[in-house]
Amino acid sequence: RGIPINVLGGGDANRPIKQVIAIMSGKGGVGKSLVTGLLAVSLRRQGQRVGILDGDITGPSIARMFGTTGHPTKTANGGIEPLKSKGGVKVMSMNMFLENESDPVVWRGPMVSSAIKQFYSDVDWGQLDYLLVDLPPGTSDAPMTVMQALPVDGVVIVSSPQMLATMVVMKCVHMVRHLKGTIVGVVENMSYFETPNNERYEIFGPSNATELVSVTGAPLLGQLPIDPALTSLCDSGRVEEYYSEAYEALAANFVNTLKI
Ligand code: ADP
Repeated sequence: RGIPINVLGGGDANRPIKQVIAIMSGKGGVGKSLVTGLLAVSLRRQGQRVGILDGDITGPSIARMFGTTGHPTKTANGGIEPLKSKGGVKVMSMNMFLENESDPVVWRGPMVSSAIKQFYSDVDWGQLDYLLVDLPPGTSDAPMTVMQALPVDGVVIVSSPQMLATMVVMKCVHMVRHLKGTIVGVVENMSYFETPNNERYEIFGPSNATELVSVTGAPLLGQLPIDPALTSLCDSGRVEEYYSEAYEALAANFVNTLKI
């Protein structure tokens, strides 16, 4: 069954979006979507106007995280109205075009790339300070499309403290350089777990932050803990209820680094 992507259309490509930032990771499961979501939440709390373009067309998770269910409508000028979260984050995700959230999107690369482009140019994003683009993991078609077809101002790379994760980060670095993009920062997720008694355990091994910084040449924006409370809030669409100093610090570093 086809997805009615052709219902998208119209819209003006010249959006007043100040910064388009892509969030990238070399492999799945390191928390790229979660970091994207929480960055948006913290930026909103600072009064920034934020949108998230869920570029993970075949495995979207942003809409679920924000509880933005339902289908987008068309605006008067023929563009697509993104859904708005309770906290005011504008969200566009493939899930919103599916009859059931669990329906698979079985598409080849060019279709995926075309959907990502339309999510940028046909969606009525309005005025935004930041459009965060949650990329699918890896260095295949979809992340390349975003880098080439969207006016990406910077890339944030998310990793976790494992040797393999750092090796995979190298692939991202090479891809971004190849496409003449700029890595604006790195985030180490799942760095540690903290007990209620403030004891820290490095579950996935010691931090690779120093290596990440030297490999990417970009500043470390934050080291984030593993927090089971987060997982359940994300699963129930209540990510905006989460508060953690580590994430607020991440957003502050992000804003300072990008200085708009
Ligand atoms: P990716 O986008 O890199 O594939 P996700 O952001 O979807 O990864 O995260 C994978 C899973 O791990 C999700 O269920 C998410 O809620 C959980 N997760 C990610 N980071 C953390 C964290 N710091 N603490 C707790 N759960 C996390």
